[in-house]
Amino acid sequence: MVGLRAEIFYDRDGVSYYRCPRCGMIFKKSKDFSRHLNKAHKKLFSSKNRNEEKS
Ligand SMILES: [Zn+2]
Repeated sequence: MVGLRAEIFYDRDGVSYYRCPRCGMIFKKSKDFSRHLNKAHKKLFSSKNRNEEKS
């Protein structure tokens, strides 16, 4: 599906979180993480060698 995998970890209450390995943003739902990938890192999937960073 996507090229990046979320880093999943759990807090002391056992709640799972998803962390973006690219920018470090944290999401509570995998769905939110997937949406973030599409919005923020979509260019990574279309061009493999990209040096420019746009904010
Ligand atoms: Zn990200």
